[in-house]
This record gives sequence, C-alpha cells and structure tokens, in this order.
Amino acid sequence: ESYLDNAATTPTRSEVIERMNEVMRDAWGNPSSVHAVGMRAKEVLEESRATIAGALGVEPGEVYFTSGATESNNLAVRGVCSARRDNPAKIITSTLEHASVTRSVRGMRREMNWPVTYIDAIDGKLDLGQLRDALTESPTSLITIMNVQNEVGYIFPSAEIGRMRDELAPDALYHVDATQAFGKLSPKPREWHAELASVASHKIGGPRGIGALYVRDGVKMHTNAFGGGQERGLRSGTEPVFLAAGFARAVELAQAEHEETLAHVRALSAQIRAELARLVPDAIVNSPEDASPFIVSVSVPGLRNAKSVAYLSDRGVYASRASACESNHEHVAAGTWRKKHPLSLQAAGIPLSQGNTTLRVSFSGATTPDDVDRFVATLAECNAELGSRK
Ligand code: PMP
Repeated sequence: ESYLDNAATTPTRSEVIERMNEVMRDAWGNPSSVHAVGMRAKEVLEESRATIAGALGVEPGEVYFTSGATESNNLAVRGVCSARRDNPAKIITSTLEHASVTRSVRGMRREMNWPVTYIDAIDGKLDLGQLRDALTESPTSLITIMNVQNEVGYIFPSAEIGRMRDELAPDALYHVDATQAFGKLSPKPREWHAELASVASHKIGGPRGIGALYVRDGVKMHTNAFGGGQERGLRSGTEPVFLAAGFARAVELAQAEHEETLAHVRALSAQIRAELARLVPDAIVNSPEDASPFIVSVSVPGLRNAKSVAYLSDRGVYASRASACESNHEHVAAGTWRKKHPLSLQAAGIPLSQGNTTLRVSFSGATTPDDVDRFVATLAECNAELGSRK
C-alpha cells in the first residue's frame, strides 16, 4: 500500500504508541489532584508542554493544549474577539484559510457584526498591497492568516505580515494557523511576531484528538470551555495526559529528524514532478516550486478526482481530492456552503473546472520513492482508462 495523504493525517508512529501506553499505565492520574498519583500525571503533562513550547521557540506557559487544530483555530478567533467585544474592529483573513478559521471568522461577523476583510492569494501569492490597504483604512482587531496552505502547500509570508502589523496596526493581534508547518518546516511564531499560533499532533505521527494553541504571555483571551479552570482557565476539562505525551514524543522525533525529512520530501517532490511530466504529460502541477515540499497538488484535465481517488484506492494508492476537509464541506452543507463560498482552490486562481480534477499528494518522512512511482504509474493507467482526453 502507498499512503500519500499525510496532510490529512499520518499513521501514529510506533514510538508514540509505546510512549502513550507507558503513560496510560503509569501516569493515568488527574493532573489536578494534589496527591502523588495526580502529581505524576501533572509532571508528564508539563514535560510534554515544555517539549512543544521548545519546538515552537516559546515559553511553556504560553502553550495551551486543545483537542486539535480546529479547536485551536476556533479558540484563537473567538477567544480574541470576545475579549475585545467592547472595541469592535474588523478581522483580516485570507481567502485560502481552513474552514475552522473561515467559519469562526464568519461567526464573529454574524454574532458581533464585525466587518471582515479577505486578502486574495491568487496563484498562492498573498496580496500584501491589499493587506497594507486594509491595515491602513480602518482599525483591525485580529489578523488570522495561515502559514502553510493545506490544499496546495503555498507558504505565506508570515514574518512580513507580522512586520506590517507592527508598523501599521500595532493594536491588532496576529494569529497564524501553523498546522501544516509544525513538525515539518519548524515554524517560530515569535519570528513572525505572532501572538497566537495553532498546531496539531496527528499531522506528524502523533495521536488524533490533541493539538495546541500558542498565546503570547499577556494577551487577553476569553474561553470557550467553562469548568474546572484547567489550562490556566482557557480550556477547562481533565487533560488527556497520554495524548499530550504522545504528541510530545512525535514532536521530539520530528525535531531529531528535521533536516533528514526535509531533504527526503524535497527529493520526493522533485521526483513526482519529473515523473508526472514524463508519464502523465496532461497533468498540471498546481503547487509552485517554492511551496511546502510536503504537499503536491496536481490536476489532470478530463479526469475527475472522484473517479481517480477511487481508482487509486482500489489499487492500494491513497491520495485525496483537493483536501479531506473540502469534501466535508460538500457533505455537511449539501451544496449551500459551496454556492456561497467559492472553492478555495478557485480563490487560489485554479479554475473551478480544474478543481474537480485536482488531487492532493502529501508526504511524510516515511513515504518512499516507490510510493511515488506507484502513484504516478497508477494515475497514468487511470488517465488512459477513464480520462476524457485520451
Ligand atoms: N488547519 C489546517 C491548515 C489544516 O490542514 C487542518 C487539518 N485538515 C486543520 C486546521 C484542522 O485540523 P484538525 O482536523 O486536526 O482539527
């Protein structure tokens, strides 16, 4: 089998499973309990937090565990806006964000009547002129613009955005969804001058169900989860210590293997481009050369992705359509979301007709050159059998 959908999720690494077993067995207590059993759990929780903070280059006290990037993004947007509800000002975001950002932002517009400015990113180039205008025109409460885009792998200029905020709207807070960057490209939110950043565990060989939100010390936030006051009041609920420990182990492995993995996926990205050009000459690679090497988006005109994904899957090759989350939109909103909100691929300048024929291939350190060979060979076969441009 060839698994090429690592941007959707990754297999849990065996070292991570071992670590989680150990913690479930030996540190299963409630970290809030003040007896020794609770303290053992607390110690593991805090060690895990320190590992994640270290990888982000921030203080442990600035890292809050959540259930994943979706919750981190919701908490970042809603938490900041609720804390600033007495000073309404617009939100700036991009047209290519994940739904967990976009829908949170839209929620704030609906509930609090805050204006929203969308910055275009045609061909993956975030329009910094638009951003400059937006920051100059009227007060801004929050900028939320991702680092690595999850469908095409575009890398947005996070540090440049931070500098513009500093210069033009120093009162605005700046959040970065770093889900597709963390544990891969070693993002450092402080270098971006971001006050908030979202990350997740299951994209890097850790367990599902845990992520984190970095919130710079001193930033005022409201919570979405009321209760026992865990995570310094920002996210109540008994902490899943074994998940935190598994997440931390995945981060340690990613850090230790960083250079090696990066060189490896760069080679895979070059390989897939070369093989596609040779064996599927119709194919259009949507990801620019300077995109994240972990993601390659490719369209095959005349070959619908609903068909090609199934064809590949039947032969043990797993890729996805534009992204796993996009297919959820279709499913959940039964067409209405689609009509109101153009496919984000369209917003990236990829025509709608091409959106239906787009596949996303995404790598991890465990992906092999053989996996790439099989993908391209099977896609070529599929195109010969099912494509309309034979
Ligand atoms: N943001 C980005 C950029 C993503 O790629 C994803 C995962 N598809 C998420 C947020 C949401 O992550 P999760 O499903 O783990 O909550």
